Amino acid sequence: MSYIQDLSARFGVNAEERGEKGFPVFENNVKGKGVCLLADENTERYTSDIRSELERNGNAVSLFVYPEREPVADEKAVALALHVSEKSDYILSVGAGTLNDLGKYAGFLSGKKSGVLATAPSMDGFSSGVTPLIEKGFKITRAAQAASDVLIDFDILQTAPAVMTGAGVGDILAKYCSLSDWKISSLLYGEEIYANAEELMREALFACTENIPKIQKGDAEGISALMNALLVSGYAMQLAGNSRPASGAEHHMSHYLEMDYLKRGKRIPLHGVKVGLGTMVSLFLYHNVFRFSFAGEEEVRAVADSLPSENFVADALRSFGCPVKFSEIDVGKDTVKAMLFEAYKIRDRFTILALYNKLGFMDRVADEIIDLYY
Ligand SMILES: [Zn+2]
Repeated sequence: MSYIQDLSARFGVNAEERGEKGFPVFENNVKGKGVCLLADENTERYTSDIRSELERNGNAVSLFVYPEREPVADEKAVALALHVSEKSDYILSVGAGTLNDLGKYAGFLSGKKSGVLATAPSMDGFSSGVTPLIEKGFKITRAAQAASDVLIDFDILQTAPAVMTGAGVGDILAKYCSLSDWKISSLLYGEEIYANAEELMREALFACTENIPKIQKGDAEGISALMNALLVSGYAMQLAGNSRPASGAEHHMSHYLEMDYLKRGKRIPLHGVKVGLGTMVSLFLYHNVFRFSFAGEEEVRAVADSLPSENFVADALRSFGCPVKFSEIDVGKDTVKAMLFEAYKIRDRFTILALYNKLGFMDRVADEIIDLYY
């Protein structure tokens, strides 16, 4: 059993890599069940192999393809997922972000198990027990269930668009900042750190960072390190009992921008793309903290010293064709500036962004950040 299979099993998830015989554990898990496959126009081409394998396994299989290239996880899409899977016992999403969210939420609502055949290593929601959804035009997070089976086929993941893989890398590099935000909250305010969750996330983050050159080449070993880190993120959150290990100010900035896209009725860019940009801002804030004096400055500086540079992250993101400036993601300069001053209010969670705002330092760096990253 591989490290990630073993770890996943402890969280009740079958993370199975395609072997010579396909996905035997999954096939056994769904033996005798009616399986509903959910796909969209982009991922439909990945459904035929799994469909025939399931049919050979004796499963009744139905397929629903959202008639769009990029569906959004809103009320209408959830209702469709519930409707088309009504006669099935198990929902298998063939996709990544949105399809994964739709399948697991529909499974949760109807009391059915669900799984995902991952088509891109683009975000860390495969193993998370919550689902981001759009309801009445607002982004909210609903309780759901983690996938029972995460099916990993490197032949598929290696063909994912580079920008989606880059988004996954962005969502992992973000963990440098989320873990640091957690750390400074513990140093300055005594927030409890759950060491096992923190270590698990940190190790996976380091393994992924080391493998960036291999991920860039689309090498299976690199993609595997990325996929492992994306799965570990969900488990670290489960261990911590909250999203601290995986989400800090960089995610708050991304959420802030999402609300702006929704207000304007615009398509929201990939999660990891926005989070990657937020990561660059957070790193800038950490690396410039030496310019200010406040109680606890030495502790925060020590945390900053352990972090990679903004350029390291920018170079990594750029190598996948991901945006490295906010002006590249259809968002106004005023909105980005407002984000610097407002996004920390999204959650009552101490972060580097909250520190700058609460101590009145943001005024002194906001224009610099806009010059560098807009
Ligand atoms: Zn994320």
